[in-house]
Formats: sequence, structure tokens, C-alpha cells
Amino acid sequence: MDQARRPGVKRIFPERSVLRRGASAVGSVVRAVAELIATDRFSRIRLCANEDCSHALYDGTRSRTQRWHSYEVCGNRANVAAYRARHTT
Ligand SMILES: [Zn+2]
Repeated sequence: MDQARRPGVKRIFPERSVLRRGASAVGSVVRAVAELIATDRFSRIRLCANEDCSHALYDGTRSRTQRWHSYEVCGNRANVAAYRARHTT
């Protein structure tokens, strides 16, 4: 019997579809991490160099020198702080 003939099925078991979606999301994350480890790209994942920031980043640079999760946010803040430190008497 197909879904069209049983319109009440979705309403009777709404939690099932939620569980299935949740399990699928976890499965996708596990698969993605497994792929990262298998291809040695896992070593490119690290925490942002800003100690006040809790973001992780994926370093996609050739030189593996990316420090900030976002240059506009944390990189710029660090540069401004360094500038102030140099120019404070
Ligand atoms: Zn950051």
C-alpha cells in the first residue's frame, strides 16, 4: 500500500520521522569525519588561534598556515590589538 492511500500514517507516527532525520544527520557527520581521517585531511582541522574564540577551522591553504576561523573577525581583531600594543607609550 502506498502513502497516498494512507494519509494518516504521517500524523500517527510524527516522532519516527524526527528520529530518522536525526539518525541520518549523525550518520552524515560520522561519514564526513571518517572521510577526513581516511584522506589525512583531519590534521587540517584545528581551533582558531584567538584564545577567546571557540570556533574550529578547516585549513584549506596549501601552506597549512591558516590561523583564524575568520580573518574578518578574529584575524582583524588580533591585528588591531597588535597595532595598539606597538603604538602605546
Ligand atoms: Zn575565531
